[in-house]
Amino acid sequence: MSLIPRDFSDRIAFFVMLGAIHLITFFELLVILPYIDQDRTKTYWLHFTIGMCFYFDIMSNIGFILTIDTTSGSVIMPSVLKLGWRFCSTCEANAPPRSHHCWMCNKCILKRDHHCTFTGNCIGFSNQRYFLTFILHLTCAAIYCNYLNMDYTWEVLGGFNFKSVITMFVPLVAWMFGFAATYGFFVAFVSALCVIGCLLLSTFSVYHVNNLVHGQTTSEKTHKVHDYDLGLVGNIREVFGVKWYVAWVSPWISSPLPGDGVSFLTKQQHDREGHVIICPMKTAFDPQQNLF
Ligand SMILES: [Zn+2]
Ligand SMILES: [Zn+2]
Repeated sequence: MSLIPRDFSDRIAFFVMLGAIHLITFFELLVILPYIDQDRTKTYWLHFTIGMCFYFDIMSNIGFILTIDTTSGSVIMPSVLKLGWRFCSTCEANAPPRSHHCWMCNKCILKRDHHCTFTGNCIGFSNQRYFLTFILHLTCAAIYCNYLNMDYTWEVLGGFNFKSVITMFVPLVAWMFGFAATYGFFVAFVSALCVIGCLLLSTFSVYHVNNLVHGQTTSEKTHKVHDYDLGLVGNIREVFGVKWYVAWVSPWISSPLPGDGVSFLTKQQHDREGHVIICPMKTAFDPQQNLF
């Protein structure tokens, strides 16, 4: 199994993302923290610990997204086409409801949400939890970095004035026209990366959390499908598993998913029951159990 995306554009996006995460992490640890607290007192170690927790958490989520199998694996799909199922001519197999064939991964993905260019993998039934914690925690980390950087960046750029504002928004142009020295350009570049990253990630987070709350995949959202909306707690449990109330804290907390990714509780069945069914299928599925 290769952890590096096969597709060329995915590979570029993957390495740009990893490069940006590591550049910002080292910048915060080696430049910003010593500036905030030169004497390395409790404040320094507090920020250092928070930063390392974010780094370990984000890299772990990426690891789980890359390694968890999002297909039906070794489970043999039924040879008779059941109601709501479809035949995938590429995989030459019957595919369950909510699954879609991904032309980048070249396989059918259970409860497919979307193909994530930054990890070169599809997000679906088994790894959606890790994708959501990845973007939510990365958004928090980006906000935290912006908060830490603010004073240092303006100080290096010579305070709040016309030149520093230009340098902040278009660092390369400012450097080329001599508005900023090379170090000023570097600091402004990293800060701008944090600001842009924060804005993009916040937008992604709002979009995907909205889908989570309504029990929809990206495709179901586009086609206005509400068949699997089990209410707020039911929808969160479907993605974050039976320990949904703590699973969002860390990807290392085991939280088996209700169901098997092949059959799903519908809104109709759920409403008929009148309450949330914790584990509607025969067994709960733990995506991490095959990894270790
Ligand atoms: Zn297929
Ligand atoms: Zn894919």
